[in-house]
Amino acid sequence: MPIQTVNPYTNKVVKTFEELTDDQLERKIAKAHKTYQSWRNTPLEARARLLQKVAELMREKKAELSRLITLEMGKLIAQSEAEIEMCASVYDYYAKNAAEFLKDRPMKVDSGKAFVRLTSTGIVLAVEPWNYPFNQVARLAAPNIVGGNVVVLKHASNVPQCAAMIEKLFKQAGAPDGVFTNLRIAAKRVAKLAEDQRITGMSLTGSEAAGASFAEAAGRNIKKSVLELGGSDAFIVLDDADIDLAVEKAIAGRFNNMGQACTSSKRLIVMEAVANTFLQKFKSKIENLKVGDPMDRAAQIGPLSSEEAAKKVVQQVTESVKQGAKILVGGKRIDRQGAFMEFTILTGIKPGMVAYDEEIFGPVASFYRVKTEQQAIELANATRFGLGGSVFSKDVERAVRVANQIDTGMVFINKNVASQPDLPFGGTKYSGYGRELSALGMEEFMNRKLIYVP
Ligand code: NAP
Repeated sequence: MPIQTVNPYTNKVVKTFEELTDDQLERKIAKAHKTYQSWRNTPLEARARLLQKVAELMREKKAELSRLITLEMGKLIAQSEAEIEMCASVYDYYAKNAAEFLKDRPMKVDSGKAFVRLTSTGIVLAVEPWNYPFNQVARLAAPNIVGGNVVVLKHASNVPQCAAMIEKLFKQAGAPDGVFTNLRIAAKRVAKLAEDQRITGMSLTGSEAAGASFAEAAGRNIKKSVLELGGSDAFIVLDDADIDLAVEKAIAGRFNNMGQACTSSKRLIVMEAVANTFLQKFKSKIENLKVGDPMDRAAQIGPLSSEEAAKKVVQQVTESVKQGAKILVGGKRIDRQGAFMEFTILTGIKPGMVAYDEEIFGPVASFYRVKTEQQAIELANATRFGLGGSVFSKDVERAVRVANQIDTGMVFINKNVASQPDLPFGGTKYSGYGRELSALGMEEFMNRKLIYVP
Protein backbone atom coordinates (compact mmCIF):
# COMPACT_ATOMS: atom_id res chain seq x y z
CA MET A 1 0.00 0.00 0.00
CA PRO A 2 1.42 3.42 -0.88
CA ILE A 3 1.83 5.77 2.05
CA GLN A 4 -0.74 8.36 1.07
CA THR A 5 -3.42 10.69 2.28
CA VAL A 6 -6.48 9.94 0.17
CA ASN A 7 -9.59 11.89 1.15
CA PRO A 8 -12.36 9.24 1.25
CA TYR A 9 -15.00 11.94 0.80
CA THR A 10 -13.65 12.61 -2.70
CA ASN A 11 -11.40 9.57 -3.25
CA LYS A 12 -8.72 12.04 -4.42
CA VAL A 13 -5.07 11.62 -3.49
CA VAL A 14 -4.10 14.62 -1.34
CA LYS A 15 -0.45 13.83 -0.66
CA THR A 16 2.02 10.97 -1.13
CA PHE A 17 4.97 10.25 1.13
CA GLU A 18 8.28 8.44 0.64
CA GLU A 19 9.17 5.55 2.86
CA LEU A 20 12.23 5.79 5.08
CA THR A 21 15.34 4.25 3.53
CA ASP A 22 17.10 1.47 5.45
CA ASP A 23 19.75 3.99 6.56
CA GLN A 24 17.19 6.48 7.82
CA LEU A 25 15.37 3.70 9.65
CA GLU A 26 18.58 2.54 11.34
CA ARG A 27 19.39 6.10 12.42
CA LYS A 28 15.97 6.49 14.00
CA ILE A 29 16.20 3.20 15.89
CA ALA A 30 19.75 4.08 17.04
CA LYS A 31 18.52 7.46 18.26
CA ALA A 32 15.58 5.89 20.10
CA HIS A 33 17.93 3.41 21.73
CA LYS A 34 20.36 6.12 22.81
CA THR A 35 17.54 8.25 24.19
CA TYR A 36 16.19 5.26 26.09
CA GLN A 37 19.42 5.13 28.14
CA SER A 38 18.68 8.57 29.59
CA TRP A 39 14.88 8.45 29.48
CA ARG A 40 14.74 5.36 31.71
CA ASN A 41 16.61 7.37 34.38
CA THR A 42 14.62 10.57 33.95
CA PRO A 43 12.51 11.13 37.10
CA LEU A 44 8.98 9.82 36.87
CA GLU A 45 7.60 13.32 37.61
CA ALA A 46 9.29 14.67 34.47
CA ARG A 47 8.01 11.80 32.35
CA ALA A 48 4.49 12.39 33.71
CA ARG A 49 4.77 16.13 33.00
CA LEU A 50 5.54 15.32 29.36
CA LEU A 51 2.29 13.36 29.03
CA GLN A 52 0.37 16.17 30.68
CA LYS A 53 1.83 18.63 28.21
CA VAL A 54 0.91 16.36 25.27
CA ALA A 55 -2.67 16.24 26.58
CA GLU A 56 -2.77 20.04 26.90
CA LEU A 57 -1.47 20.52 23.37
CA MET A 58 -4.02 18.09 22.00
CA ARG A 59 -6.86 20.01 23.61
CA GLU A 60 -5.43 23.32 22.39
CA LYS A 61 -5.13 22.03 18.84
CA LYS A 62 -8.31 19.97 18.85
CA ALA A 63 -9.79 21.64 15.77
CA GLU A 64 -6.66 21.13 13.66
CA LEU A 65 -6.11 17.53 14.78
CA SER A 66 -9.75 16.58 14.26
CA ARG A 67 -9.70 17.95 10.73
CA LEU A 68 -6.65 15.82 10.00
CA ILE A 69 -8.45 12.66 11.14
CA THR A 70 -11.50 13.51 9.07
CA LEU A 71 -9.39 14.32 6.02
CA GLU A 72 -7.43 11.07 6.13
CA MET A 73 -10.05 8.50 7.16
CA GLY A 74 -13.40 10.23 6.79
CA LYS A 75 -14.68 10.25 10.39
CA LEU A 76 -17.57 12.67 11.06
CA ILE A 77 -15.94 15.80 12.47
CA ALA A 78 -17.76 15.72 15.84
CA GLN A 79 -16.55 12.15 16.34
CA SER A 80 -13.00 13.18 15.43
CA GLU A 81 -13.21 15.85 18.13
CA ALA A 82 -14.46 13.25 20.61
CA GLU A 83 -11.48 11.06 19.70
CA ILE A 84 -9.05 13.88 20.47
CA GLU A 85 -10.74 14.51 23.84
CA MET A 86 -10.58 10.81 24.67
CA CYS A 87 -6.97 10.64 23.62
CA ALA A 88 -6.00 13.61 25.81
CA SER A 89 -7.72 11.88 28.73
CA VAL A 90 -5.56 8.78 28.18
CA TYR A 91 -2.36 10.87 28.44
CA ASP A 92 -3.76 12.62 31.53
CA TYR A 93 -4.77 9.35 33.12
CA TYR A 94 -1.28 7.83 32.94
CA ALA A 95 0.37 11.10 33.99
CA LYS A 96 -1.82 11.07 37.10
CA ASN A 97 -1.73 7.37 37.99
CA ALA A 98 1.72 6.16 36.92
CA ALA A 99 3.30 6.70 40.36
CA GLU A 100 0.64 4.48 41.91
CA PHE A 101 0.93 1.81 39.20
CA LEU A 102 4.72 1.74 39.46
CA LYS A 103 4.91 1.34 43.24
CA ASP A 104 7.03 -1.56 44.49
CA ARG A 105 4.98 -4.64 45.32
CA PRO A 106 6.19 -6.30 48.52
CA MET A 107 6.08 -10.13 48.50
CA LYS A 108 5.20 -12.42 51.40
CA VAL A 109 8.34 -14.53 51.86
CA ASP A 110 9.48 -17.03 54.49
CA SER A 111 12.73 -15.24 55.14
CA GLY A 112 14.40 -12.03 54.06
CA LYS A 113 12.72 -9.29 52.11
CA ALA A 114 11.41 -9.40 48.54
CA PHE A 115 9.56 -7.05 46.29
CA VAL A 116 8.60 -6.77 42.63
CA ARG A 117 9.52 -3.56 40.89
CA LEU A 118 8.28 -2.60 37.42
CA THR A 119 11.28 -1.49 35.39
CA SER A 120 11.46 -0.33 31.79
CA THR A 121 12.79 -2.61 29.06
CA GLY A 122 13.70 -0.55 25.97
CA ILE A 123 12.05 0.36 22.69
CA VAL A 124 8.44 -0.71 22.20
CA LEU A 125 7.24 -1.05 18.61
CA ALA A 126 3.61 -0.06 18.02
CA VAL A 127 1.84 -1.04 14.79
CA GLU A 128 -1.48 0.76 14.70
CA PRO A 129 -4.62 0.99 12.53
CA TRP A 130 -6.33 4.00 10.98
CA ASN A 131 -9.74 3.75 12.65
CA TYR A 132 -8.82 5.86 15.72
CA PRO A 133 -5.51 7.22 14.45
CA PHE A 134 -4.66 9.28 17.55
CA ASN A 135 -6.28 7.23 20.28
CA GLN A 136 -4.93 3.82 19.27
CA VAL A 137 -1.43 5.27 19.52
CA ALA A 138 -2.08 6.96 22.89
CA ARG A 139 -3.16 3.69 24.48
CA LEU A 140 0.28 2.23 23.86
CA ALA A 141 2.44 5.35 24.00
CA ALA A 142 1.17 6.85 27.26
CA PRO A 143 1.84 3.95 29.68
CA ASN A 144 5.14 3.02 28.08
CA ILE A 145 6.61 6.48 27.86
CA VAL A 146 5.68 7.33 31.43
CA GLY A 147 7.09 3.96 32.49
CA GLY A 148 10.50 4.79 31.01
CA ASN A 149 10.27 2.93 27.71
CA VAL A 150 10.49 4.72 24.38
CA VAL A 151 8.10 4.11 21.48
CA VAL A 152 8.51 3.70 17.73
CA LEU A 153 5.34 3.78 15.64
CA LYS A 154 4.52 2.14 12.33
CA HIS A 155 1.12 3.63 11.60
CA ALA A 156 -1.38 2.56 8.94
CA SER A 157 -0.39 3.71 5.44
CA ASN A 158 -3.52 5.83 4.98
CA VAL A 159 -2.96 8.11 8.00
CA PRO A 160 0.61 9.39 7.47
CA GLN A 161 -0.22 12.97 8.47
CA CYS A 162 -1.84 11.88 11.74
CA ALA A 163 1.27 9.80 12.47
CA ALA A 164 3.62 12.72 11.77
CA MET A 165 1.45 15.01 13.87
CA ILE A 166 1.70 12.76 16.94
CA GLU A 167 5.51 12.87 16.69
CA LYS A 168 5.34 16.65 16.32
CA LEU A 169 3.12 17.00 19.40
CA PHE A 170 5.64 15.06 21.50
CA LYS A 171 8.43 17.34 20.25
CA GLN A 172 6.41 20.46 20.97
CA ALA A 173 5.67 19.11 24.44
CA GLY A 174 9.42 18.94 25.05
CA ALA A 175 10.14 15.22 24.54
CA PRO A 176 13.80 14.51 23.78
CA ASP A 177 14.29 13.21 20.22
CA GLY A 178 13.79 9.46 20.27
CA VAL A 179 11.17 9.24 23.01
CA PHE A 180 8.44 8.97 20.40
CA THR A 181 9.46 8.21 16.81
CA ASN A 182 7.29 7.88 13.74
CA LEU A 183 8.63 5.26 11.31
CA ARG A 184 7.22 5.78 7.82
CA ILE A 185 7.64 2.23 6.53
CA ALA A 186 5.57 -0.41 4.76
CA ALA A 187 4.08 -3.33 6.69
CA LYS A 188 6.42 -5.81 5.04
CA ARG A 189 9.41 -4.23 6.83
CA VAL A 190 8.01 -4.85 10.31
CA ALA A 191 9.10 -8.51 10.59
CA LYS A 192 12.74 -7.47 10.18
CA LEU A 193 12.40 -5.00 13.06
CA ALA A 194 11.41 -7.91 15.30
CA GLU A 195 14.98 -9.21 14.91
CA ASP A 196 16.43 -6.01 16.36
CA GLN A 197 17.58 -6.57 19.93
CA ARG A 198 17.08 -2.93 20.81
CA ILE A 199 13.34 -3.47 20.39
CA THR A 200 12.05 -5.24 23.50
CA GLY A 201 8.28 -5.30 23.02
CA MET A 202 5.86 -5.36 20.08
CA SER A 203 2.20 -4.42 19.99
CA LEU A 204 -0.18 -4.57 17.03
CA THR A 205 -3.75 -3.44 16.69
CA GLY A 206 -5.33 -4.55 13.45
CA SER A 207 -6.58 -7.55 11.53
CA GLU A 208 -6.18 -11.18 12.39
CA ALA A 209 -3.89 -11.81 9.39
CA ALA A 210 -1.55 -8.97 10.34
CA GLY A 211 -1.60 -10.08 13.98
CA ALA A 212 -0.68 -13.66 13.15
CA SER A 213 2.36 -12.73 11.07
CA PHE A 214 3.42 -10.08 13.59
CA ALA A 215 3.21 -12.50 16.52
CA GLU A 216 5.11 -15.10 14.50
CA ALA A 217 7.97 -12.64 13.97
CA ALA A 218 7.89 -11.66 17.65
CA GLY A 219 7.85 -15.30 18.73
CA ARG A 220 10.81 -16.24 16.54
CA ASN A 221 12.74 -13.55 18.36
CA ILE A 222 11.47 -14.44 21.85
CA LYS A 223 9.79 -11.10 22.16
CA LYS A 224 6.70 -10.28 24.16
CA SER A 225 3.77 -9.19 21.99
CA VAL A 226 0.32 -7.79 22.55
CA LEU A 227 -2.37 -8.23 19.91
CA GLU A 228 -5.60 -6.25 19.72
CA LEU A 229 -7.37 -7.77 16.72
CA GLY A 230 -10.81 -8.02 15.18
CA GLY A 231 -14.11 -8.61 16.86
CA SER A 232 -17.70 -9.57 16.19
CA ASP A 233 -19.25 -8.38 19.41
CA ALA A 234 -22.68 -9.60 20.45
CA PHE A 235 -25.21 -7.04 21.69
CA ILE A 236 -27.74 -9.09 23.65
CA VAL A 237 -31.15 -7.64 24.46
CA LEU A 238 -33.00 -9.75 27.04
CA ASP A 239 -36.79 -9.77 27.29
CA ASP A 240 -36.82 -7.44 30.33
CA ALA A 241 -34.53 -4.78 28.82
CA ASP A 242 -35.26 -1.06 28.59
CA ILE A 243 -35.83 -1.12 24.83
CA ASP A 244 -35.40 2.60 24.18
CA LEU A 245 -32.05 2.54 25.98
CA ALA A 246 -31.01 -0.60 24.11
CA VAL A 247 -31.93 0.96 20.76
CA GLU A 248 -30.04 4.17 21.54
CA LYS A 249 -26.89 2.25 22.55
CA ALA A 250 -27.18 -0.16 19.61
CA ILE A 251 -27.26 2.76 17.18
CA ALA A 252 -24.10 4.23 18.74
CA GLY A 253 -22.50 0.81 19.14
CA ARG A 254 -23.01 -0.22 15.55
CA PHE A 255 -22.83 2.99 13.56
CA ASN A 256 -20.34 5.31 15.33
CA ASN A 257 -17.18 5.66 13.25
CA MET A 258 -19.23 4.28 10.34
CA GLY A 259 -19.14 0.89 12.02
CA GLN A 260 -15.37 0.67 11.73
CA ALA A 261 -14.46 -0.23 15.29
CA CYS A 262 -13.17 -3.53 16.59
CA THR A 263 -15.75 -3.34 19.38
CA SER A 264 -18.69 -2.25 17.24
CA SER A 265 -21.92 -4.02 18.23
CA LYS A 266 -21.79 -6.13 15.09
CA ARG A 267 -24.35 -8.79 16.06
CA LEU A 268 -27.64 -7.70 17.61
CA ILE A 269 -29.11 -10.72 19.41
CA VAL A 270 -32.62 -9.93 20.65
CA MET A 271 -35.09 -12.13 22.53
CA GLU A 272 -38.26 -12.92 20.59
CA ALA A 273 -40.59 -11.21 23.11
CA VAL A 274 -39.08 -7.78 22.37
CA ALA A 275 -37.58 -8.37 18.91
CA ASN A 276 -40.28 -6.67 16.81
CA THR A 277 -40.40 -3.56 18.98
CA PHE A 278 -36.61 -3.30 19.07
CA LEU A 279 -36.22 -3.82 15.34
CA GLN A 280 -38.91 -1.33 14.39
CA LYS A 281 -37.40 1.39 16.62
CA PHE A 282 -33.84 0.58 15.52
CA LYS A 283 -34.79 0.70 11.83
CA SER A 284 -36.71 3.97 12.14
CA LYS A 285 -33.65 5.67 13.63
CA ILE A 286 -31.40 4.94 10.66
CA GLU A 287 -33.77 5.92 7.91
CA ASN A 288 -33.66 9.41 6.42
CA LEU A 289 -30.26 10.36 7.84
CA LYS A 290 -28.32 13.14 6.14
CA VAL A 291 -25.46 11.95 3.97
CA GLY A 292 -22.66 14.43 3.40
CA ASP A 293 -19.22 15.89 3.83
CA PRO A 294 -17.80 14.57 7.13
CA MET A 295 -16.35 18.05 7.77
CA ASP A 296 -19.94 19.38 7.80
CA ARG A 297 -21.52 19.07 11.26
CA ALA A 298 -24.94 18.47 9.73
CA ALA A 299 -23.83 15.20 8.09
CA GLN A 300 -24.92 12.01 9.88
CA ILE A 301 -23.54 9.52 7.39
CA GLY A 302 -20.01 10.07 6.10
CA PRO A 303 -17.73 7.94 3.95
CA LEU A 304 -15.95 4.79 5.04
CA SER A 305 -12.18 5.04 5.39
CA SER A 306 -11.45 4.22 1.75
CA GLU A 307 -12.96 3.09 -1.53
CA GLU A 308 -11.54 -0.43 -0.93
CA ALA A 309 -13.18 -0.57 2.51
CA ALA A 310 -16.59 0.40 1.09
CA LYS A 311 -16.27 -2.14 -1.73
CA LYS A 312 -15.33 -4.90 0.69
CA VAL A 313 -18.27 -4.29 3.04
CA VAL A 314 -20.81 -4.12 0.21
CA GLN A 315 -19.34 -7.30 -1.22
CA GLN A 316 -19.76 -9.07 2.16
CA VAL A 317 -23.41 -7.97 2.22
CA THR A 318 -24.02 -9.07 -1.39
CA GLU A 319 -22.41 -12.44 -0.75
CA SER A 320 -24.52 -12.96 2.40
CA VAL A 321 -27.69 -12.14 0.45
CA LYS A 322 -26.74 -14.67 -2.24
CA GLN A 323 -26.41 -17.18 0.59
CA GLY A 324 -29.95 -16.42 1.80
CA ALA A 325 -29.70 -13.43 4.17
CA LYS A 326 -32.24 -10.62 3.79
CA ILE A 327 -31.64 -6.89 3.64
CA LEU A 328 -34.12 -5.00 5.81
CA VAL A 329 -32.57 -1.59 5.10
CA GLY A 330 -29.64 -0.35 2.99
CA GLY A 331 -27.09 -2.77 1.59
CA LYS A 332 -25.80 -0.66 -1.29
CA ARG A 333 -23.26 2.00 -2.16
CA ILE A 334 -24.68 5.53 -2.05
CA ASP A 335 -24.76 6.97 -5.53
CA ARG A 336 -22.27 9.80 -5.19
CA GLN A 337 -18.55 10.42 -5.26
CA GLY A 338 -16.58 9.04 -2.28
CA ALA A 339 -16.39 5.87 -0.19
CA PHE A 340 -20.05 5.94 0.86
CA MET A 341 -22.42 3.10 1.69
CA GLU A 342 -25.86 2.94 3.28
CA PHE A 343 -26.50 2.04 6.90
CA THR A 344 -27.65 -1.55 6.64
CA ILE A 345 -29.62 -4.15 8.62
CA LEU A 346 -29.32 -7.82 7.67
CA THR A 347 -31.72 -10.51 8.91
CA GLY A 348 -32.17 -14.23 8.23
CA ILE A 349 -28.48 -14.91 8.82
CA LYS A 350 -27.50 -18.57 9.25
CA PRO A 351 -24.23 -20.41 10.00
CA GLY A 352 -22.04 -20.70 6.91
CA MET A 353 -23.01 -17.27 5.57
CA VAL A 354 -20.37 -14.54 5.28
CA ALA A 355 -22.31 -12.31 7.69
CA TYR A 356 -22.31 -15.11 10.26
CA ASP A 357 -18.68 -16.14 9.97
CA GLU A 358 -16.75 -12.95 9.18
CA GLU A 359 -16.20 -9.64 10.88
CA ILE A 360 -17.99 -6.90 8.92
CA PHE A 361 -15.97 -3.71 9.37
CA GLY A 362 -18.58 -1.19 8.29
CA PRO A 363 -22.14 0.04 9.00
CA VAL A 364 -23.94 -3.29 8.83
CA ALA A 365 -26.00 -4.60 11.75
CA SER A 366 -26.58 -8.36 11.73
CA PHE A 367 -29.92 -8.94 13.47
CA TYR A 368 -30.75 -12.26 15.17
CA ARG A 369 -33.87 -13.36 17.10
CA VAL A 370 -33.57 -15.93 19.88
CA LYS A 371 -36.20 -17.60 22.04
CA THR A 372 -34.22 -18.06 25.24
CA GLU A 373 -31.40 -16.54 27.26
CA GLN A 374 -29.42 -19.75 26.71
CA GLN A 375 -29.74 -19.43 22.92
CA ALA A 376 -28.51 -15.84 23.17
CA ILE A 377 -25.41 -16.98 25.04
CA GLU A 378 -24.70 -19.81 22.59
CA LEU A 379 -25.05 -17.52 19.59
CA ALA A 380 -22.87 -14.86 21.22
CA ASN A 381 -20.14 -17.47 21.67
CA ALA A 382 -20.51 -18.97 18.19
CA THR A 383 -17.68 -16.91 16.73
CA ARG A 384 -13.92 -17.22 16.48
CA PHE A 385 -13.64 -13.74 17.98
CA GLY A 386 -13.73 -12.88 21.68
CA LEU A 387 -13.31 -9.14 22.09
CA GLY A 388 -16.32 -7.53 23.78
CA GLY A 389 -20.06 -7.72 24.17
CA SER A 390 -23.10 -6.09 25.76
CA VAL A 391 -26.06 -7.39 27.73
CA PHE A 392 -29.24 -5.38 28.26
CA SER A 393 -31.66 -6.18 31.08
CA LYS A 394 -33.34 -4.18 33.86
CA ASP A 395 -32.22 -6.97 36.19
CA VAL A 396 -28.50 -6.28 36.58
CA GLU A 397 -27.84 -9.55 38.41
CA ARG A 398 -29.36 -11.47 35.53
CA ALA A 399 -27.30 -9.48 33.02
CA VAL A 400 -24.11 -10.17 34.97
CA ARG A 401 -25.00 -13.88 35.05
CA VAL A 402 -25.29 -13.85 31.26
CA ALA A 403 -22.10 -11.77 30.93
CA ASN A 404 -20.27 -14.38 32.93
CA GLN A 405 -21.00 -16.98 30.25
CA ILE A 406 -19.77 -14.93 27.31
CA ASP A 407 -16.25 -15.81 26.16
CA THR A 408 -14.83 -12.35 25.60
CA GLY A 409 -12.37 -9.99 27.25
CA MET A 410 -15.02 -7.38 28.08
CA VAL A 411 -18.77 -7.26 28.65
CA PHE A 412 -20.67 -4.04 29.29
CA ILE A 413 -24.07 -4.11 30.98
CA ASN A 414 -26.74 -1.80 29.56
CA LYS A 415 -24.08 -0.03 27.48
CA ASN A 416 -22.32 -0.53 24.19
CA VAL A 417 -18.63 -1.44 24.52
CA ALA A 418 -16.42 1.64 24.70
CA SER A 419 -12.83 2.34 25.51
CA GLN A 420 -12.03 4.52 28.52
CA PRO A 421 -8.65 5.07 30.22
CA ASP A 422 -9.48 3.38 33.53
CA LEU A 423 -10.95 0.16 32.08
CA PRO A 424 -8.74 -2.65 30.73
CA PHE A 425 -9.26 -3.25 27.01
CA GLY A 426 -8.52 -6.46 25.13
CA GLY A 427 -9.80 -9.79 23.95
CA THR A 428 -9.64 -13.56 23.94
CA LYS A 429 -9.70 -16.21 21.18
CA TYR A 430 -8.82 -14.78 17.72
CA SER A 431 -9.32 -11.23 19.01
CA GLY A 432 -5.84 -11.38 20.48
CA TYR A 433 -4.20 -11.27 23.87
CA GLY A 434 -2.84 -8.77 26.35
CA ARG A 435 -4.49 -5.62 27.63
CA GLU A 436 -4.28 -1.90 27.03
CA LEU A 437 -5.37 0.90 29.37
CA SER A 438 -5.82 0.87 33.18
CA ALA A 439 -3.07 -0.51 35.44
CA LEU A 440 -2.99 -3.70 33.33
CA GLY A 441 -1.93 -1.76 30.23
CA MET A 442 0.99 -0.31 32.17
CA GLU A 443 2.51 -3.73 32.81
CA GLU A 444 2.62 -5.35 29.39
CA PHE A 445 6.06 -4.15 28.34
CA MET A 446 7.62 -3.55 31.73
CA ASN A 447 9.92 -6.00 33.46
CA ARG A 448 8.33 -7.32 36.65
CA LYS A 449 11.68 -7.54 38.35
CA LEU A 450 12.12 -9.43 41.60
CA ILE A 451 14.53 -7.90 44.11
CA TYR A 452 15.39 -10.21 46.99
CA VAL A 453 17.36 -9.33 50.08
CA PRO A 454 18.19 -12.40 52.28
P1 NAP B 1 -4.60 -4.14 9.14
O1 NAP B 1 -4.61 -4.23 7.68
O2 NAP B 1 -4.23 -5.32 9.93
O3 NAP B 1 -3.69 -2.88 9.50
C1 NAP B 1 -3.38 -2.52 10.82
C2 NAP B 1 -1.92 -2.13 10.90
O4 NAP B 1 -1.11 -3.28 10.69
C3 NAP B 1 -1.48 -1.14 9.83
O5 NAP B 1 -0.50 -0.28 10.36
C4 NAP B 1 -0.88 -2.04 8.76
O6 NAP B 1 0.03 -1.35 7.91
C5 NAP B 1 -0.18 -3.05 9.61
N1 NAP B 1 0.06 -4.36 8.98
C6 NAP B 1 -0.68 -4.98 8.04
N2 NAP B 1 -0.14 -6.19 7.76
C7 NAP B 1 0.96 -6.33 8.53
C8 NAP B 1 1.94 -7.34 8.70
N3 NAP B 1 1.89 -8.47 8.01
N4 NAP B 1 2.94 -7.14 9.60
C9 NAP B 1 2.99 -6.01 10.32
N5 NAP B 1 2.11 -5.00 10.19
C10 NAP B 1 1.08 -5.16 9.33
O7 NAP B 1 -6.01 -3.69 9.72
P2 NAP B 1 -7.15 -2.93 9.00
O8 NAP B 1 -7.92 -3.91 8.22
O9 NAP B 1 -6.69 -1.71 8.34
O10 NAP B 1 -7.95 -2.48 10.34
C11 NAP B 1 -9.07 -3.09 10.74
C12 NAP B 1 -8.85 -4.30 11.64
O11 NAP B 1 -8.27 -3.90 12.88
C13 NAP B 1 -10.16 -4.94 12.01
O12 NAP B 1 -10.07 -6.33 12.03
C14 NAP B 1 -10.43 -4.42 13.40
O13 NAP B 1 -11.34 -5.17 14.14
C15 NAP B 1 -9.06 -4.38 13.96
N6 NAP B 1 -8.98 -3.46 15.11
C16 NAP B 1 -8.83 -3.96 16.35
C17 NAP B 1 -8.81 -3.13 17.45
C18 NAP B 1 -8.64 -3.65 18.86
O14 NAP B 1 -8.33 -2.86 19.74
N7 NAP B 1 -8.82 -4.92 19.11
C19 NAP B 1 -8.94 -1.76 17.26
C20 NAP B 1 -9.11 -1.28 15.97
C21 NAP B 1 -9.12 -2.14 14.90
P3 NAP B 1 -0.44 -0.87 6.43
O15 NAP B 1 -1.52 0.12 6.63
O16 NAP B 1 0.80 -0.28 5.88
O17 NAP B 1 -0.90 -2.10 5.73
